[in-house]
Amino acid sequence: MKPILLAAALIALAPAAEQVPPASANYLRAHEKFLASDLLEGRGTPSRGLDIAAQYIASEFEKYGLKPAVGDSYFQETTYTSRRQGVEGKVRNVIGVLTGSDPKLKDTYVLVTAHYDHLGMRKKENPEPGEDLIFNGANDDGSGTAGVMECARILSQMKTKPKRSIVFMCFWGEEEGLRGSAYYGKNPVFPLAATTAQINLEQIGRSDSDEGVKKAGFNITGATFTDLPQMIAKAAATVGVKYIEDPQHSDAYFMASDNGALALVGVPAHTISVAYGYPDYHRVGDHWDKLDYPNFAVVVRAAATAAYAVADSTAEPKWNAANPKAKRYAEARAKGGG
Ligand SMILES: [Zn+2]
Repeated sequence: MKPILLAAALIALAPAAEQVPPASANYLRAHEKFLASDLLEGRGTPSRGLDIAAQYIASEFEKYGLKPAVGDSYFQETTYTSRRQGVEGKVRNVIGVLTGSDPKLKDTYVLVTAHYDHLGMRKKENPEPGEDLIFNGANDDGSGTAGVMECARILSQMKTKPKRSIVFMCFWGEEEGLRGSAYYGKNPVFPLAATTAQINLEQIGRSDSDEGVKKAGFNITGATFTDLPQMIAKAAATVGVKYIEDPQHSDAYFMASDNGALALVGVPAHTISVAYGYPDYHRVGDHWDKLDYPNFAVVVRAAATAAYAVADSTAEPKWNAANPKAKRYAEARAKGGG
């Protein structure tokens, strides 16, 4: 016994970096069972279900001790008219902050984001009795939303805060064409020039990708557009998650999620995805019980580890000037964003 205890004491004295704690499959499942339940009617923009989801996310942020981003509120609110849904209403980005530890760098920001809206309800004149008309959106993007909340929970537990602040943000209106994130890009709560990076989470809960089963790995959109993907890949590897190259889809999907809206205003911004395509994509059968929760938890921990690494680094991700596909975003960055 004694030699082992001595060894343990010596290890404890070593100045080891604090590891991001594991993410919980049970928390992720609980979030999904609620967000993707029929009660929320597919979280269309705008809708009652979307409002309920916003309240739920804000109450989780509060529970984890995140600072409200808009005065004493977690909501950045506006009104929006949906042509798709034929309705007008109130919509809200939900934003909470984990303040950084460095006196200067705490005024710079790493965004961890996802969209919490989905497609709402299918419109059908004479549905069959009991026919499923609800686009539950468990993987798209209940998974990113649950992932943002779980990243917030595990990162807020850490004793050592990263140098930069981490902003957790859930957007409305992605399915309407990146509306919530574009609204944020035009009305940023934190200066765009001081926004170091955005790590967006999309479709990270299912491992049954159209390209085959993907375990303990993810793709990154626009993988060569900035050097942020390299930082993410390096951090993910420390918790056993590999970055899977997919040049064919990686560039094509760059503008297909909310990182695109922030890239347009210059922020080095990418989306992490486990499955770009999967059975039930944009179908009513995108249900919570089809997610691979153990794998989901592993991927969320890797995302949180990446966010921590970027936020704790003095290095700033840069647009890759040598890549013509990144040129317009690099120009937006040079203009200071906006
Ligand atoms: Zn999505």
